[in-house]
Amino acid sequence: MMKAGISFMRINKIFVTHLHGDHFLGIPGLVQTISFSDRREPIYIYGPEGIAEAIDAVRGLGEYQLRFELIPVEMDGEFVLEEEKYRIRAVPVDHYIPTYGLVFEEKKRRTFLRERAEALGIPPGPLYSKLQRGEVVEFQGRTVHPDEVLGERKEGFRLVYSSDTRPLDVIKEASRGAVLIHDATFGEEYRDHAVETKHSTAAEAARVARDGGAKALYLYHISPRYKNGKELYEEAKKIFPEVTLAKDFMKVDMSRYKGGKR
Ligand SMILES: [Zn+2]
Ligand SMILES: [Zn+2]
Repeated sequence: MMKAGISFMRINKIFVTHLHGDHFLGIPGLVQTISFSDRREPIYIYGPEGIAEAIDAVRGLGEYQLRFELIPVEMDGEFVLEEEKYRIRAVPVDHYIPTYGLVFEEKKRRTFLRERAEALGIPPGPLYSKLQRGEVVEFQGRTVHPDEVLGERKEGFRLVYSSDTRPLDVIKEASRGAVLIHDATFGEEYRDHAVETKHSTAAEAARVARDGGAKALYLYHISPRYKNGKELYEEAKKIFPEVTLAKDFMKVDMSRYKGGKR
């Protein structure tokens, strides 16, 4: 996060897809680093069965003072987090311990017509936010209705993260019109191994993206046996051309994937 230039202070919620080390052992370091700051707001950690014990272990690791709360939330079956601007749906996937895939959905919003707000003489700030939320505001003795400053409704973006899993219909169905980040641990030559270890091949990931109607596919969880993953990329590209090999610190402009067919 430091390298990526993302502030720890912005983290309020963490989703742990499953309790394999490569998916949650960054949390002790993250929590202890945040503990050096003056943070007081709690952090909610959503995870599968066993998350509360794992977070207890994190708290007991090392000597440090936590001035904020770590609140584990155990998910049991399908789980939905509704927020004002987005929704996160966690769906059980097919790995060899309880594991969740995540569907992030930006909610439909109407565009805020700033010029109109300015023309009405409304000062930027809290009144803008209220109007954006669709609330009527009183301003200098007059009533401004949100319709006066809001434009058309825009589709947000959808991001689907399969986590570690065999290919699944639930991920395929969630992928329509979405950007899909899918397990591609192996190539087809190790398909048996993928079945055994409950991961996917690059070709399988590509079929999920193609059959589900995803806008783009990012391959992740590449086995270290592949030096740069190029062969996995080639394998997937034959099936689904809009494929990219995900890399650490890669930045993707999601506005490219907003709207359109669903
Ligand atoms: Zn795993
Ligand atoms: Zn993993």
